[in-house]
Amino acid sequence: MSRYTGPVCRLCKAESAKLFLKGDRCYTEKCAITRSESGEKKVKKTSRPKTKISEYGIRLREKQKLRRFYGIQESQFRRFYGIAEKMKGQTGHNFLQLLERRLDNVVHRLGLGISRAQARQLVLHGHFLINGKKVDIPSYLVEAGDVITVKEKSRTIPVIKENSEAAAAKKGGGTPAWLEYDAAKYEGKIVSVPTREQVDAPVSEQLVVEFYAR
Ligand code: SF4
Repeated sequence: MSRYTGPVCRLCKAESAKLFLKGDRCYTEKCAITRSESGEKKVKKTSRPKTKISEYGIRLREKQKLRRFYGIQESQFRRFYGIAEKMKGQTGHNFLQLLERRLDNVVHRLGLGISRAQARQLVLHGHFLINGKKVDIPSYLVEAGDVITVKEKSRTIPVIKENSEAAAAKKGGGTPAWLEYDAAKYEGKIVSVPTREQVDAPVSEQLVVEFYAR
């Protein structure tokens, strides 16, 4: 299945939920979902069936919402779910934790990519080192204690410079508690792996588990 390349706001409208796919705009009044919630604009729901949604449909939509939030294709999403199932503990929590630990997500959470899509591009272009070694695989899973650094040569690239400055201006306000970012060194640290409470994905992971367990 190829990656979706159309307008991303359409994905939010399809799920009737903010999936935060467009960077800073998602946090402004320009967001179509925010405007519809405030009654300013009616959002046309593009893929909702007219009939009452089935139990299966509810679970499918939750799974799609989570997949779109992280911007992952189905085959890889399913593969991560398989890994989560084999881990100790609750599958839903494990799954969210694995998705959060992806390098593209971590680059976004550190503020170095304004969206996960932009972060993925930056990773693919080889701008980051993990513990001193170049890693250009967006699905790479970080561990507690890992240090992510922007390559010396990449620090003058306008988009990286601007994002890093914006992250620094927030003085850690935008960085989740399980991460740390030092803008002076262009360096992020994985303080710990995230707990469920530290993951703000707008889904019920239990419904996703029930979707795959059917
Ligand atoms: Fe568009 Fe972001 Fe709003 Fe989604 S959350 S509709 S991507 S602006």
